Amino acid sequence: MTIRLLSPTLINQIAAGEVIERPASALKELVENSIDAGASRIDIKLKDGGRSLLSVTDNGKGMSAEELSMAVERHATSKLPTDDLFNISFLGFRGEALPSIGSVSRLTMTSKAKDADSGYEISVEGGEKSSVKPAACPIGTRVEVRDLFFATPARLKFLKTPSTEASHAVDIINRLAMANPNVSFYLSTEVKQAVKLPASNGDFFETRLARLTDILGKNFGENAMKIDAVRENMHLTGYAGLPTFNRGNAQHQFLFVNGRAVKDKLLNGAVRGAYQDVLAGSRYPVLALFLELPPEEVDVNVHPAKAEVRFRDAGMVRGLIVGALKHALTESGHKTSSTVGIGVLGAIRRPDEVQKQAGFNYQAPLIRGIGARASSYYPSTSTYVSSAPSVQQGLSEHVQGIFDEPSAKPSYIYEVEQEGVEKQSELQEQQNAEEYPLGAARAQVHETYIVAQTSDGIVIVDQHAAHERLVYEQMKKEIEEGNVKTQILLIPEVVEIEESAVSAVSQRSEELAKFGLIVEGFGDNAVVVREVPALIASRIDINKLVVDLADEILDAGEAISLKEKLHDVCATMACHGSVRSGRRLNGDEMNTLLRDMEKTPHSGQCNHGRPTYVELKLKDIEKLFGRS
Ligand code: ADP
Ligand code: MG
Repeated sequence: MTIRLLSPTLINQIAAGEVIERPASALKELVENSIDAGASRIDIKLKDGGRSLLSVTDNGKGMSAEELSMAVERHATSKLPTDDLFNISFLGFRGEALPSIGSVSRLTMTSKAKDADSGYEISVEGGEKSSVKPAACPIGTRVEVRDLFFATPARLKFLKTPSTEASHAVDIINRLAMANPNVSFYLSTEVKQAVKLPASNGDFFETRLARLTDILGKNFGENAMKIDAVRENMHLTGYAGLPTFNRGNAQHQFLFVNGRAVKDKLLNGAVRGAYQDVLAGSRYPVLALFLELPPEEVDVNVHPAKAEVRFRDAGMVRGLIVGALKHALTESGHKTSSTVGIGVLGAIRRPDEVQKQAGFNYQAPLIRGIGARASSYYPSTSTYVSSAPSVQQGLSEHVQGIFDEPSAKPSYIYEVEQEGVEKQSELQEQQNAEEYPLGAARAQVHETYIVAQTSDGIVIVDQHAAHERLVYEQMKKEIEEGNVKTQILLIPEVVEIEESAVSAVSQRSEELAKFGLIVEGFGDNAVVVREVPALIASRIDINKLVVDLADEILDAGEAISLKEKLHDVCATMACHGSVRSGRRLNGDEMNTLLRDMEKTPHSGQCNHGRPTYVELKLKDIEKLFGRS
């Protein structure tokens, strides 16, 4: 056996096997060359689905006679001036498309450079290059590919019907056109004008949306959310369909990286993650996203046809996409729900913003700036504060005590109206209370939400979420300080659980004691609980708590101490031991909750990351009623 070098034509044909799979892939290479040449208009003709003729005419910068001759040489490119594979700013760079196509077809290129006197023409037939001849033509380049794959008949057998091949070509052109809305694209076959996409004028987003609407349909334009997000040196723009505008597969999800259409699983995963709360698993949103990032952040040289890319920081790209989509979905969720809602929900501010503005200060027991008023808010003589704590007290007593017994007293508001003597000072108190960031409780609605009045607006608190957060933070503090107060159960509670859980819990009983839970094994299939954390004693369903904790312990495995899982354990206990929605609260209870929230870190969110309250400013309410 002799080892020999392959002929250049054979090498080109092998390369063609990778890059040029069908007429549409040849077309992609030619149109990308036109875009790289700065064309603003590209005309395409297909005959026989591109098999007998495929022609691309552009008005780009054109080529000189020498360039024309070089262009069809293998590995000849004008697009890697610095030899830096990680700094690629053109669609092409491998310098193999033209020689590859020329090796398997009859290729003719006619071109005239911008300031040249004359145009030139070159042809390549089955890899045989002709000389360059003068030719009459306008500025720009026309490439004609006839009899594609005539030199590699095996490849011909894999081609589908002309109409199928043509539809692949249209698909490729549509993708290129999405990424290049400033270029006009026209594609015709023997039977029809299949693509007609004139460039449109306008700002960046208008042009982009116009092009997407031309391709994806008018409905897309009407149901799309604008995406515009930046993270470090990455910029994501584009349009994403509302959840209601969905399809049965992911075919209508387009991702472009630095202007290049890519197929990447990352996109599908990120889209799924972002829409999971708003769209059933079997439905897919329609979207086109354009990611711009420094060329060195992405490797496009993974795949000969450059359809796949590799990100240096895929996690960050995913985060950017998910974050941007979720943000858009949140905003548009309000938009679609009702038109009035736009104003209201847009005006409702989340805790993080409120706190920033109100100067919440968790370290100090009093609210900065209005601390002086706190003592007058809780005058020791008032009946009103009989069950309310002094602000200086720790949370423990009232967090634990305040919600235990449903109050028999009439509601706070009722009381104010009834007791004439008290009225004056209580009104004073109310006004003082309004100075607090979360204001004075005015009402409880649906036994779930507390409505409070602040000096310049209203606050709506989710009582369960808020209380859960308070219990959680307090419990964490007690445990960290090694000072957990417990309550002895008069009748120890026997909880039946599986054997594995019994042993897991008994083994951890010493650790659990530090959390305030005194528990021991009770036969093979049960444990007995003797003491529970005082903080949650009055509200917990001990049975459920033990079952959940056992799960937690089994999950953690033996290697991890419960202390390391402190947050999880506390969260579990807090969730079980918090005042439920549906529980009626009186004025004292509500105000106490508000004051405790102001003192507690992270009280703006419950343990599940949902907000515990929202705020609506008076001026926004006025806007809503057309009063300002
Ligand atoms: P690549 O695009 O990777 O550089 P190609 O084989 O596709 O490789 O093209 C080789 C070279 O021919 C390009 O680098 C470019 O300089 C030139 N060229 C190809 N098509 C055109 C065109 N339509 N207009 C101007 N120049 C072109
Ligand atoms: Mg190219």
